[in-house]
Amino acid sequence: RSSAEKFEFQAEVSRLMDIIINSLYSNKDIFLRELISNASDALDKIRFLSLTDKEVLGEGDTAKLEIQIKLDKEKKILSIRDRGIGMTKEDLINNLGTIAKSGTSAFVEKMQSGGDLNLIGQFGVGFYSVYLVADYVEVVSKHNDDKQYVWESKADGSFAISEDTWNEPLGRGTEIRLHLRDEAKEYLEEDKLKEVDVEVPADEDETSEEEDSSPETTEEETEEDEEKEKKPKTKTIKETTSEWELLNDMKAVWLRSPKEVTDEEYSKFYHSLAKDFGDDKPMGWSHFTAEGDVEFKALLFIPPKAPHDLYESYYNSNKSNLKLYVRRVFISDEFDDLLPKYLSFLRGIVDSDTLPLNVSREMLQQHSSLKTIKKKLIRKALDMIRKLAEEDPDEYSNKDKTDEEKNEMEEKKGQYAKFWNEFGKSIKLGIIEDATNRNRLAKLLRFESTKSDGKLASLDEYISRMKPGQKDIFYLTGSSKDQLEKSPFLERLTKKNYEVIFFTDPMDEYLMQYLMDYEDRKFQNVSKEGLKLGKDSRLKDLKESFKELTEWWKKALESESVDSVKVSSRLHDTPCVVVTSKYGWSANMEKIMQAQTL
Ligand code: ADP
Ligand code: MG
Repeated sequence: RSSAEKFEFQAEVSRLMDIIINSLYSNKDIFLRELISNASDALDKIRFLSLTDKEVLGEGDTAKLEIQIKLDKEKKILSIRDRGIGMTKEDLINNLGTIAKSGTSAFVEKMQSGGDLNLIGQFGVGFYSVYLVADYVEVVSKHNDDKQYVWESKADGSFAISEDTWNEPLGRGTEIRLHLRDEAKEYLEEDKLKEVDVEVPADEDETSEEEDSSPETTEEETEEDEEKEKKPKTKTIKETTSEWELLNDMKAVWLRSPKEVTDEEYSKFYHSLAKDFGDDKPMGWSHFTAEGDVEFKALLFIPPKAPHDLYESYYNSNKSNLKLYVRRVFISDEFDDLLPKYLSFLRGIVDSDTLPLNVSREMLQQHSSLKTIKKKLIRKALDMIRKLAEEDPDEYSNKDKTDEEKNEMEEKKGQYAKFWNEFGKSIKLGIIEDATNRNRLAKLLRFESTKSDGKLASLDEYISRMKPGQKDIFYLTGSSKDQLEKSPFLERLTKKNYEVIFFTDPMDEYLMQYLMDYEDRKFQNVSKEGLKLGKDSRLKDLKESFKELTEWWKKALESESVDSVKVSSRLHDTPCVVVTSKYGWSANMEKIMQAQTL
């Protein structure tokens, strides 16, 4: 078209498209999930705007919040249309090509090292999966603030945008036309599409019998709610013909009773929620209803893996990965402060009956109920994690279980170690940041020690192994277990059969500044002053007889900033050792600080 404006894809996006178009990946279904997930996001956005301004929805068909699909077998075109928010010309340019999202290069790197294409949605570049099945794609879009435009590309490094003067007006929303490659012709068959089981979190509950009479709700909204409830709501593809066919919503899983929902349904729901279509099941979930002053339903998931950028933006963002709904209406998936930062690895949904619907997001953010919701969510999240450990036959807490019980739990074997491996850092951040739940979080802490025998141990396990008369919990920090095992600080402790915890993560130094005690027992860094190992009756005499030597020594070392020189009972073979004062930095901490200032 002569009026079309041409644009180059941003370099990284172009590379990504090359990878996709040349991929031999057999599971091509993901493109459909990504497109429907985008359509569903677009519906959520316009629905949210309509809460404060009904006008945005328009009239007639345009006001119907639907996703539809159409097949043109002759021309080999598969089209998906939504009546969501749509894209302006600028949106089309920015979102589909010229601005690379932060996940773009991360995903390209992943793919080059043999990563799974299935994970594309998690990197925020799911749209481009259309090139798994199409060699030419048109995106027709109409946003309320702009005219209708067409974006088109053959994935040849460039795309074109034209004002749309030839297609039927969309009213509002987006239509994506995939000109299918020969190898992907199967997607023109109704049966193939039925096979692809697409699910998107639905926004309303068709069986909701609730009479809404809360004061915040205006009459108009109640009317609208009723209208919504007449619509079918399962987003599985039913039938597809050359006419537009409706994709219905799946009934919202979180509104159902936990007893009725199968593990498969939870898994599937997690996959669509997290845009994670890998084969791994979530490690755990917690589905509950909170009652009382603040009522809400929630469904929380522990992902099978930590996202690639979990700690990258940790200190800059308050964003939780929970979707917030108010009375079945989607509000936001970037709501600040629903969960503390250290739990931002969790995924899930919160649907509140107590929060007001018809206020701005900013006002909602201030609402007093949020504090209560947050508190309950933290509790439930920590319970869910604790259960992972309790159900794991490898875990110490199971030592009282019978063999039969252990057999039953066999498939949960090692699941806590896996959790710890992925999210242990988050638990440590929690101990540092959340004083209220510090003890609960400390229970979830795992580490290796002089007695853990290559496995992970917990503080409870440590305490159960403490020697009679032992008061403190002993630990040592350093850069690796190997290094620590050779430490002279261990000599006497191991000789006397005391257990010493190894902390080898740089973060552990910070952790131990916050974790002062556990179950009434103090932590003692064995490389620091203050180590007490029961009474040694000879020590007093020895101190006296070596007094002259220690005083001479202190004088001799004065220029080295030595605080004091003492006779002590902490060593066995090594004649002397440098010990850190009680409140000073350990040698390991000195090293960490030095590395940071270099
Ligand atoms: P993500 O959905 O993770 O943001 P995608 O690559 O799937 O990444 O989509 C990129 C962007 O394009 C979206 O964030 C959205 O702004 C826009 N977009 C894609 N599909 C639609 C649609 N159907 N309606 C409106 N905007 C869309
Ligand atoms: Mg997407």
